[in-house]
Amino acid sequence: MNRLQKISKPNIQFCIACAAIIFLSIGSTRYVLVANYDQLLKNDAHIFDVRINNLTSHVSLIKTNLLTLKATIKNNINLAEKEQLDFPIPTNLLKADNGTLYTHGDPLQTLLTFSSIPQRTSAFYHQLKASQALHPGLLQVLENIPNSLWIYYASKEGFSYIVPEIPHIPSAERTYNSLFWTETVPSKNPELKMIVTDAYEDYFSKELVITVTTPIEHQKEFIGLIGFDLGINSLLEISQLHQSVGQTFIIDNHNSLVHPDKNAPGKDSMTDAMSGGEPLEVGFIRTKDTYWQKKPIFDQELYAVHLINYDHLLFEAVRKSITELAAITITALVLIMFLFRLRNYGNKITELSNSDPLTGLLNRRSMAEISNYQISMSRRNNRPISIAILDIDHFKKINDQFGHDIGDQVLKLFAKKLQSETRTNDLVCRYGGEEFIICLPELDKYSARDIIQRFQGISLDATPSERINITFSAGITHIAADESLKDATKRADQALLLAKQSGRNRIEICSDSAEQTSQPEKNQKI
Ligand code: GH3
Ligand code: MG
Ligand code: MG
Repeated sequence: MNRLQKISKPNIQFCIACAAIIFLSIGSTRYVLVANYDQLLKNDAHIFDVRINNLTSHVSLIKTNLLTLKATIKNNINLAEKEQLDFPIPTNLLKADNGTLYTHGDPLQTLLTFSSIPQRTSAFYHQLKASQALHPGLLQVLENIPNSLWIYYASKEGFSYIVPEIPHIPSAERTYNSLFWTETVPSKNPELKMIVTDAYEDYFSKELVITVTTPIEHQKEFIGLIGFDLGINSLLEISQLHQSVGQTFIIDNHNSLVHPDKNAPGKDSMTDAMSGGEPLEVGFIRTKDTYWQKKPIFDQELYAVHLINYDHLLFEAVRKSITELAAITITALVLIMFLFRLRNYGNKITELSNSDPLTGLLNRRSMAEISNYQISMSRRNNRPISIAILDIDHFKKINDQFGHDIGDQVLKLFAKKLQSETRTNDLVCRYGGEEFIICLPELDKYSARDIIQRFQGISLDATPSERINITFSAGITHIAADESLKDATKRADQALLLAKQSGRNRIEICSDSAEQTSQPEKNQKI
């Protein structure tokens, strides 16, 4: 670190500007991240709403169709009882391996009876006719509702009528022990409501299904049900509509997943999150490491839960912000680099304006500025400070003898010597031409003389072949309290003149009397 840099003031503006850029960058980064984080959260809430709308409208479509079928079968039974329903009872009954009788084939699709028809009552025949007459209605529902598996009328009288045509024939025992039957009958469903069963494996397709059923009453008695089997996969497809950060799960009223894979990834976090309570439709709930929300799909039987993991959300927010974050970082780096450049130019300009171009020493102006600080420090600490003016003897002759360039070289080498062999706190200045001023803090004029004396008569390698010995004359004085550098310099200059007049190659110390006479002048000025 050279003396100019050492004494230059810390660049507060530069530090403030850098800090401001860093704070702004951190602030913008935070803003972008938070904005994208919130945006993703909002987006997921919106996507969850869309999924719920699709799921509920799908379920509503099933409900409406089942209610229409319910009304139709009731009407058909009434007509059958009045002998007004003309529908032929199938005669081509076949017998399955398990003893079940059935018809198989167009247009009646699959009619199953679970024992022989002749033993049946008139109610059996009325319902049989009524369900056959339901055939076009059943087919229409099958077409209306996407992803329908089976739709059927199952009667308490020991038969069922199902579309589309089934590949195997189930036994009566299997039918009446299936969830769609056991969950719908009055013993389990006293209010005879439309219900959704838990998920179970379909007997024919082996895929996981839920059945929406509506019980049928005739003359205030339960006589059978209309069932609609829906593959779980079709619901899951809807629950995955659009891309989201979180996951949507479909659960039943026991909070169990209805998914084919009961250990679906994220299931444990869902269970953990929901263990805190069951608030519905109030936006996202925050738990330890997740946001979650639960909404109904089918009255108190089927729900959807949307779950977002914080870490995953944060990761996605960072991924989404990558372009903005890169832009902020690059802008901040460019600004900081620009500031560094600016500061370096500033330092360079300060250095140039404060230094002598030939020797690199302080010039008069910067010497005056910096020495003020040194002088005030010495005063404050009640320490001595001295000043020496040096003038190279007969320098004109050196120029004449060796040329101006060598003269320059001599000045540079002499300056370098003065600079390198004085203390860091000493200020060395080129006062003009071949004159130098050295300000020596902490030294009285006698000690200063000893220091200056070391440079007397030195020889300099001005050219590779030429060594030039130089002498100088010098005047030294100490800078008194309340005295300016200018006044002290005047006195040192007088001492220098005395040295020159006394034959050169000598150092004169300003006498105490001269110092005292200059003091009153100074005091008068004040
Ligand atoms: P004295 O012992 O009385 O000081 O004699 P002097 O020759 O050193 O003094 P004088 O004032 O007569 O001459 C100073 C000379 O210094 C004249 C000038 O050309 C030379 N000089 C001043 N500045 C420079 C400079 O930057 N480079 C060179 N080469 N010479 C310089
Ligand atoms: Mg001179
Ligand atoms: Mg001279």
